[in-house]
Amino acid sequence: MKRDTGRNRKITSRWRPATQAVRGGTWRSEQGETSEALFLTSGYSYDDAASVAARFAGEAEGMTYSRLQNPTVQMLEERIALLEGAEACRAQASGMAAMTAALLCQLSAGDHIVSARAAFGSCRWLVDSLCPRFGIETTVVDGRDNAAWQAAIRPNTKVFFFETPANPTMDIVDLAFVCGLARAHGITSVVDNAFATSALQRPLEFGADVVAYSATKMMDGQGRVLAGAVCGTQQFIDEKLLPFQRNTGPNCSPFNAWVVLKGLETLSLRINRQSENAMEVGRFLERRVPRMLHPFLPSHPQHDLAVRQMDASGPIFSFEVDGERAQAHALLDALEVIDISNNIGDARSLMCHPASTTHHGVGAEARAEMGVGEGMLRLNVGLEDPRDLIEDLDRALTAAGL
Ligand SMILES: *Cc1c(COP(=O)(O)O)cnc(C)c1O
Repeated sequence: MKRDTGRNRKITSRWRPATQAVRGGTWRSEQGETSEALFLTSGYSYDDAASVAARFAGEAEGMTYSRLQNPTVQMLEERIALLEGAEACRAQASGMAAMTAALLCQLSAGDHIVSARAAFGSCRWLVDSLCPRFGIETTVVDGRDNAAWQAAIRPNTKVFFFETPANPTMDIVDLAFVCGLARAHGITSVVDNAFATSALQRPLEFGADVVAYSATKMMDGQGRVLAGAVCGTQQFIDEKLLPFQRNTGPNCSPFNAWVVLKGLETLSLRINRQSENAMEVGRFLERRVPRMLHPFLPSHPQHDLAVRQMDASGPIFSFEVDGERAQAHALLDALEVIDISNNIGDARSLMCHPASTTHHGVGAEARAEMGVGEGMLRLNVGLEDPRDLIEDLDRALTAAGL
């Protein structure tokens, strides 16, 4: 049926990403609506008792309860899976719901996880605080150091977990090496791809097993809703993730899924324009501050690797000002256009001081080890005219005495 074309993988898997982003996963009700319908329903009703019994027995297709399936959420899952090149995807309530589910659905007491030290603060909390409480052993390594991943492997290592580029130091993990190493040892690699998204970096093509997302960031892209996603093989999703998710319930709400569906239609346009803007702003800042951490500027120590595995660097980079927290805060306070905000992936330019916000909770010792200094600032470059952003930064740097 034509209304169902968007869910027909034989057709949609031949489409190019721009087409998949607009039409992938779309399923139309009998009204034939052009824009995806928003199914705000928790339950479903049935024509007769036998048909519900058949659905519960797995003998007939159909929805039974929105913790298990929802049409709007399924459209999002199919669209993300297509863009990622994954067999299957399940949407989650938030990025952290996605990370928690991706790890806990497959780990048990006595297992071992190796994780990169530069990471989103809550991802570090999962590894440093939550996993050990359940008897899961953890090792944190410098994600940039291929030999460190190798040296950390134990007979009970089950998972490698990392993000690249990493928040907020912009460390790059060598996807082909680390995912290949995992595979050679029967270890599942879980990659948090929130900064780049499938529009700029496709970890599965480098041998990753599971890709997990905060869809709150670039996928929504306009700072509206929390959402997340986990992508992997059909077997991983069916046998590991689904039993965990269906019984613990970190599901994405249909409304949030609908907002992210709309966001995906423009993901590639936004992330490529924001990447260009971030290059322009980055080139300006490099002349004004002592240290830049921008993967697509040649000054980044892992520039070559970043260019090899990413199509563009995305909207986010970090830099250091001369001085400590007081100088960094003074720069934030002097901004007129760029907002002070710890969010990222928004179409608005946002700046934050990680040491006193996103990475406050990990503690001074972990910050020092990760390289998150008191003079570090992280900038998400939005869709504004980059000349306005450069003028704002120029003026604020001068006002802050920098
Ligand atoms: C924001 C973020 C998360 C958490 O996502 P939420 O949607 O806020 O729960 C996880 N990892 C990375 C890299 C992030 O940037």
